[in-house]
Amino acid sequence: MFDIIVKGGALPDGSIADIGIKGDRIAAIEALGDAEAGEVIDASGDLVSPPFVDPHFHLDATLSYGQPRINASGTLLEGIALWGELKQVTTEEEMIDRALTYCDWAASMGLLAIRSHVDTCDDSLKGVRAMLAVRETVKDYIDLQLVAFPQDGFYRDPTARANTLAALDMGLDVVGGIPHFERSMQDGAESVRELCRIAAERGLRIDLHCDESDDPMSRHIETLAQEVTRHGLAGRATGSHLTSMHSMDNYYVSKLLPLIAEAGIAAIPNPLINIMIQGRHDTFPKRRGLTRVKEMQAHGITVGWGQDCVRDPWYSLGTGDMLDVAFMGMHVAQMSSPEEMARCFDMVTNQNAAILGLADYGLHVGATASLVVLDAADPIEALRLRAARLAVISKGRVIARSPRMDAALSLPGRPATIRRRHAPG
Ligand SMILES: [Zn+2]
Repeated sequence: MFDIIVKGGALPDGSIADIGIKGDRIAAIEALGDAEAGEVIDASGDLVSPPFVDPHFHLDATLSYGQPRINASGTLLEGIALWGELKQVTTEEEMIDRALTYCDWAASMGLLAIRSHVDTCDDSLKGVRAMLAVRETVKDYIDLQLVAFPQDGFYRDPTARANTLAALDMGLDVVGGIPHFERSMQDGAESVRELCRIAAERGLRIDLHCDESDDPMSRHIETLAQEVTRHGLAGRATGSHLTSMHSMDNYYVSKLLPLIAEAGIAAIPNPLINIMIQGRHDTFPKRRGLTRVKEMQAHGITVGWGQDCVRDPWYSLGTGDMLDVAFMGMHVAQMSSPEEMARCFDMVTNQNAAILGLADYGLHVGATASLVVLDAADPIEALRLRAARLAVISKGRVIARSPRMDAALSLPGRPATIRRRHAPG
């Protein structure tokens, strides 16, 4: 007797199986015939995937678009200044409300684990308290991993260092930083060194906003690789954005990529935001500002797509759908072969889960019973359609359902309904 059986779905690898759930665990993945269950979800012809994971988000700023004004230049720097104004006036309750609304959106999209940076550059630390409260509130359906993020610069902001350490003491999970926003390259490099030391001493993961710049001389990723190797942080360190790599000299990159691989650092490009923000000082030809995704993967570096922003000072759009993120990423990185397209889906599921270090993630017996049923035949079709999440199961409970995206047609001699599904081949 199972609590739930998800019947006849296609797994991302193309195999067909029933998934039996007992409590909060996957108890069986096989043909379950007429086995009894409290609830049976018919997934015949539909894709059944492990849940989506976002490795890079800003939950304290989300859904604040237009407050107190919009970002007129569209640049990273005006976004930081604008957020600086907003965080003075917003309340802890407002931050919690906005974040919980976003978590509702995420749950409806099957996005069940999020790493969020939390700004620690505010002496009241209200954002830290707010996000800790949200982490507790959503823990039964979304795993939130919180990064202590000194948005205004670990050294550049006079109290950032003390506040970041205090935030880690309060229970934030990951060490963050922003070396390219320090006053000088030297301060940026020193911040990388100290932040790696802090992560090593506390046994924590580290995830830096690193080289989010069009300046090819922004090379803090090199220092990060050196320090991660020195402190033995392999598998626990991430460079987010890495947009300067887009503009770097090719010979230098030929030395850099093996260093990143050797250090065991993962990379998180954020394609929606990178394509919107980078290259703003260029005329034409205009740089695209996405880091070198396929090139890093060819060196064995783990790369995951991140959402970064939804309706906030940096980005006016977004829905919490990791398929949108992967869809943009696959275009900008020109990942068009069948293997590369399927890899883009893997990046917003398994690769991102690996970056977060999620335990018991995936579709296997004994794993946490979290999964998504999509209105698509396979991962590539899910990307093409940004397919509806027909059912979302988190930790053994059905938490969201959506209808298929069928449209009714009124055309003589043509079908009455269409779904825009298209069989492979
Ligand atoms: Zn970010």
